[in-house]
Amino acid sequence: MYNNPYKNSCDNKRYYTISYYFKKKYNQKVAKVPLNAGFTCPNRDGTKGIGGCTFCSEKGSGDSILKFDQDLETQYEQGLKRMRKKWPNCLGFAYFQSYTNTYADLETIKKIYDPFYAREDVLGICIATRADCLEEDVLEYFANKAREKETWIEIGLQSVHEKTIQRLNRCHSTNEVWEALKKIKNTQIKSCVHIINSLPYETKEEMIDTVKELSKHPFDAIKIHMLHLIQNTALAKKYKESPFPILSLEEYVDVVVRQLEYLPYDCIIERLTGDGMADDLIEPEWTIKKTIVTNEIDKKMAKENTWQGKKSRIS
Ligand code: SF4
Repeated sequence: MYNNPYKNSCDNKRYYTISYYFKKKYNQKVAKVPLNAGFTCPNRDGTKGIGGCTFCSEKGSGDSILKFDQDLETQYEQGLKRMRKKWPNCLGFAYFQSYTNTYADLETIKKIYDPFYAREDVLGICIATRADCLEEDVLEYFANKAREKETWIEIGLQSVHEKTIQRLNRCHSTNEVWEALKKIKNTQIKSCVHIINSLPYETKEEMIDTVKELSKHPFDAIKIHMLHLIQNTALAKKYKESPFPILSLEEYVDVVVRQLEYLPYDCIIERLTGDGMADDLIEPEWTIKKTIVTNEIDKKMAKENTWQGKKSRIS
């Protein structure tokens, strides 16, 4: 009989998957429907920077399937229909994914989000944003709404290393990320932090240090991405001019397994690799086969008899 020492799991995973979290909470499959609400980003419009983070695509890190010309309601309805072809009867979360989804005044925010909080076919709301775009009144609005409907805020950290952050042109400090996580923690909103492995010139130890440092702060979930070099991004241009080392599949799997060991036992793992966007992707091609990546992670964890939180201070 297969013996999994990790208890927040109902399958062979040795980490706390988001599907396990949803299943336990709602006893049903939950799918996130990606949306493009037409926001921009202070790192693109000149308020904080121009051109955006160097890895960010022209879609503002949004799903490649999203259409800019469809109204939000239609995007949600069609998206949920698509999801239900794969998972009949799944429940839906409205996932405001593209660009910075709190970058507006409170009135505009209410106009966009109120209808989604009111919809019966929306189980919860996820909001992707930047740590420096959480004004007090906006956070208060979402904190109140979170009492009625599950609400998540997703924040891009990417790395804790200053030299990397400068190279990425992230244009806000890591302290702002810690401050934002602290503010969210005082509400019923849940937080998810994004990090990226294989950023230019980072060592494996530095990637693992990002997780060790992050784990000292309050957060509920993490998305771990492999760097995708996407056509027409500043980073892809730099890479073409002067290529920097990129992790192989084997190296990536090793880094992620080490990172999982240092994450708190009860941190929800939303992603261990990004979605392959074959059309726009320059490198690395191995990311297109997402299942292979997660299978390799599972195999390595079983072989080494390790699990999420094994080396965490907070296990
Ligand atoms: S903050 Fe987000 S949307 Fe803005 S440039 Fe960076 S990755 Fe893109």
